[in-house]
Amino acid sequence: MTRTVFTRANLLDGRGPARPDSTVIIDGEHVTEVHAGGSPVDGDRVIDLGGRTLMPGMATCHGHIDMGKVKGPPGVMMAQAMQNCRAMLESGVTGFVGAGCGNDIDAQLQMAIAEGLMDGPRILAGSRLLSTTGHDNDMSPWWHDRPNAGGLLVVDGADGFRRAAREEIRRGAEIVKIFLTSGHGTEGAGRGLSREELVAVVGAAHERGRKVRAHAIWRDDILEAVEAGVDVIDHGDETDEEIVGLMAERGTFWVPSMAFLKWLTELERGEGREWGVVLPSENAGRNWDNLCRVLPMANEAGVRVVPGDDYGTSPLAHRPGVYARELTIYANEVGVKAIDVLGWATRNAGELLGKPVGVVEPGALADLVVVDGDPSDEIALLEDPGATVKAVLVGGRFVVDRLTG
Ligand SMILES: [Zn+2]
Repeated sequence: MTRTVFTRANLLDGRGPARPDSTVIIDGEHVTEVHAGGSPVDGDRVIDLGGRTLMPGMATCHGHIDMGKVKGPPGVMMAQAMQNCRAMLESGVTGFVGAGCGNDIDAQLQMAIAEGLMDGPRILAGSRLLSTTGHDNDMSPWWHDRPNAGGLLVVDGADGFRRAAREEIRRGAEIVKIFLTSGHGTEGAGRGLSREELVAVVGAAHERGRKVRAHAIWRDDILEAVEAGVDVIDHGDETDEEIVGLMAERGTFWVPSMAFLKWLTELERGEGREWGVVLPSENAGRNWDNLCRVLPMANEAGVRVVPGDDYGTSPLAHRPGVYARELTIYANEVGVKAIDVLGWATRNAGELLGKPVGVVEPGALADLVVVDGDPSDEIALLEDPGATVKAVLVGGRFVVDRLTG
C-alpha cells in the first residue's frame, strides 16, 4: 500500500514544543513513523510541507451538533448536523464529544460516518439532556428550545435516572449529560438533581462502561459531582483550588467553556443588547474573573482541561473557525501558554474520546491538520481556517485538501 509521507513539517506532536524539519509517515489509517529529516522510499506519496505545521486534529468536547438556525423534525435536524460536521472538519476539528442532542443524532452520525456515508469527526455520542421536573430546562429557557428539538428528557428519582441512563445507552449514548445546577445563563431554579439521583446516574453509566458529564456551576455542587465520579465537569464557573486538586487526583475532565461566558459578560455589561434577551442574574463577570484566576492553576496542576462550548447556540453558531475562538481566549486573555491550550484540544481531548488520537506518534490514528504558520506561536491563526488550514485528515484520509491551490 502506498504510504503518505509528510516532509519538512513543523511538527506539533500533541505532547511537546514544535519540532521543525520533521518527517511523518502514514500507512493506512495510522501514523507509522516520526523522525527528524528523512528520505522517503519509491512509491510513497510525498508531500513537502516546506515548514508548514503538521499537528493532530483538534476536538471540541462540548457541543450540540444538531443545533443551529433550524428547529424541525429529526431528518431536518440530521441534515443540519451533517452541515455542522463539515464546519468542524473545515476547522481542523476531527473529534467531537456530545453535550446533549435530540433524536440520538450523535450516535446516528457516528454510524453514518463509520458506514462511509459521509465525512465527519470522530464522535463520542452524547445523550439527551437528563433534567428534573420543574428545573431550568423544563421551563423552556430562551436559547435551548430543547423540547422542540427532542433533546430533553425529564426524569426524577434514583430509579428514574438509572432507567434513563440505560435507555440512552441502549440508543447509542456514550456520555450521559445531566443538568446538576442552574447557572451559566440559565433561569436559576437551583439544584437540579438530588445527591441520590446523581449517584444513581453515575453508577448506572459506569456499570455499562459509559461516561457522565454534568452542567455544574456552583462550588459545592461541582465538588460533590467530582467526588461522585462524574467524568466531565461542564462550565464549572465556581471551581476553586480544592476542586482543582481533586480533579487532578481523580483525572476528571473540565470544559471551562469561556467563549459563551465571555458573551454573557458582554451581555451583563450591556454590550450585547441587540440579542434582545433578558439575562438572568448570573454574575457572569465574577465567574469570568474566577476562571481567569483558577484555569492557569488547573493547567499547572495537570487537570485534564478540554475545549468545548455551547456550539449550536446563536452566539456560537457552528461555522468554520468558531471552535478556535475559545483557544485564543485561553491563550491571549487568560494567559495559558498556546502550546498548552493546543494540548487541551488534542492530547487531552484524545484521552476523553478514548482513542489513540490527539498525538502524532507511531501507532496513533492519522487524524492530522496542516496549518500555514505555527499555531503554537500565534493560536488565532486557527480562527481563519479557510486561509490557514491547508489539509485535514481523518484516519489517514484527506477530508479537506487545499494543499494544491
Ligand atoms: Zn451545552
